[in-house]
Amino acid sequence: MIIAMKSNATEEQINHVCEKIREFGYAAHLIRGEERVVVAAVGRGDYKDQLQSLKFSPAVADVAAITQPYKLVSRDVKADRTVIRLGDLEIGGRRLVVMAGPCSVETREQLMETAEAVKRAGAQILRGGAYKPRTSPYDFQGLEEVGLKLLAEAREATGLKVITEIITPEDVELVADYADILQVGARNMQNFALLKKLGRVAKPVLLKRGMSSTIKELLLSAEYIAAHGNDRIILCERGIRTFETATRNTLDLAAVPLLHELSHLPVIVDPSHGTGRRTLIRPAAKAAVAIGADGLIIEVHPHPDQAWSDGPQSLTPSEFAETMKELRRYALIESRSMN
Ligand code: PEP
Ligand code: MN
Repeated sequence: MIIAMKSNATEEQINHVCEKIREFGYAAHLIRGEERVVVAAVGRGDYKDQLQSLKFSPAVADVAAITQPYKLVSRDVKADRTVIRLGDLEIGGRRLVVMAGPCSVETREQLMETAEAVKRAGAQILRGGAYKPRTSPYDFQGLEEVGLKLLAEAREATGLKVITEIITPEDVELVADYADILQVGARNMQNFALLKKLGRVAKPVLLKRGMSSTIKELLLSAEYIAAHGNDRIILCERGIRTFETATRNTLDLAAVPLLHELSHLPVIVDPSHGTGRRTLIRPAAKAAVAIGADGLIIEVHPHPDQAWSDGPQSLTPSEFAETMKELRRYALIESRSMN
């Protein structure tokens, strides 16, 4: 149920409604939209009638059911788009956010060179995996904490924010100590223990769509994080598995406007994993901007042919700079900006 407060409701009245909801056996989540405050009552309680009766409270404008299975992340509870603030950065605002860097953190030289290059080209966030969920156990698994330290060093040197993947619940505190944004990879989209733990972290989470997951499943995974207390979630379309094998994945671009219709959360696109091919990254990135993505995450490596992972879908620094230049023009057509 959503309990929409009147625009002149006081904090005391809002708190009172939250207390009532808890008394009825539901969790109360406050959602502050541009025009109104909404309290979402979620849970499996048996007191729907009592919740309905809240509409007689003087500060309550309306009580309505949340029709979607995902509640807190749905548009039902918040009509305006969520903008996630991260220091001086806004994710989901007018300005597009670009995260770029290597698939894996390999060496100090590799990371620093890439970080400087993507910064020069206009990216705001450095990506780089320190914990790698590889299909084969014999492939490079990541530098782990050494990689996290290198990412922190690169942040220090460039001023870029840092995003990195978290693959187990046990490592959440450690990774959160170093990263500005925690990335949940496609393979972990339904690692519910991990999602619950990320709900208790005070850092934004980038949630990638599982390679065989539906939009509904993606939103329900986001709901896990929100229901456990963290509403700073960025959704990421990174391609899904289909019968087509010419590309690594099939980039489901229609997911972007659909996710925006169904959810208030920001949505970004990963054209690297979405296509698996260097030559397709730029056209796919342009299409992502045109279809309304709030940003991009792109793999960049100084020497893609020597990369320890995902070289074929990584841009060189100069290809990335060219791509950014072209994207700037596309952003303007969409009334978006890039720095
Ligand atoms: C990655 O970003 O390097 C990665 C492993 O992505 P995904 O989870 O989308 O496969
Ligand atoms: Mn990768």
